Amino acid sequence: MATIKKRYAPDINNYKYLIHPLKESPKITEGYLYTKEERDIHGFYFHKGIDYAASYRTPVYATASGYAVAGYHRFAILNDDNTPRLYKDKPFSTGLGYFVQIYHPYKVCKIKGGRITQYGHLSKLGDGIYAKTQKPILINFREEIIRKNKTRRSKRKDSEELKELIKNTEKLVWKYPWVRKLYGFSFSDDINKKESYLYTPQELKKLHESGSKYVKWVEQGDIIGYTGTSGLIHGRLRYRENRRKPSVRKFQTWDENHLHFEEAGRDVKKGKKILHRDPYDIYLSKEHYREFHYDTLFIDFEKKISL
Ligand SMILES: [Zn+2]
Repeated sequence: MATIKKRYAPDINNYKYLIHPLKESPKITEGYLYTKEERDIHGFYFHKGIDYAASYRTPVYATASGYAVAGYHRFAILNDDNTPRLYKDKPFSTGLGYFVQIYHPYKVCKIKGGRITQYGHLSKLGDGIYAKTQKPILINFREEIIRKNKTRRSKRKDSEELKELIKNTEKLVWKYPWVRKLYGFSFSDDINKKESYLYTPQELKKLHESGSKYVKWVEQGDIIGYTGTSGLIHGRLRYRENRRKPSVRKFQTWDENHLHFEEAGRDVKKGKKILHRDPYDIYLSKEHYREFHYDTLFIDFEKKISL
């Protein structure tokens, strides 16, 4: 089991620079790896973040100072054949939902190139923080299903089977139109067209200095948003997506209200998140966070963690 940490923990000194994003002792509901129950629902193994249980609209605090940006990120979960995956007979989605990302420069995190923290599924953003919204990408399920079938080495479906699969998918998408939309995937070199989470440190600084409303410098402990379940749709869409100033009411979905939190680096050339760290330095699934130790990224680590 310890091999996950050996293989995936980046070789970075665990300098403590964070405070917990929630005021109350946070109950951890998912660790660096998903629990078996959650994996069975969506099929993902790595979480690379921490989920904290929180009641709806709990304030979320900046874990460290830095440049805050916000956006919207959500995608429907698909099967291997690119048809929408169902949970209790209905399509469902994941992604960060309405999120805040803070870029912490070297002077804050003491790591060359800086680090980012992300806060997902928010129902509302903090004062002066606006989500930079981009048009969604639309999925053409017919093309995607055919394309995926061609890449299969065995058990390729014949045209009759494919026809049936496409027909059923189109029916489902007609009923749940949100399934076609992908949010948070606009990768462009053009500063106006790319997602705010992809801004380089230089762009953040420049935009902030020029008074852009999409980049706000926040201090450690500032309220940056409020918890919710945005991005986690199940069945019908119950809120408005891609708003600059979101306000997502409480709605029934496949997951509990929680805060998704993660700490990572970002490859600014490729825009990819890299070198994710488990802020508790455990790198396992939830059950293992009971053996809590002190080599964490938190200054306030003595705070009780409950499971
Ligand atoms: Zn999460």
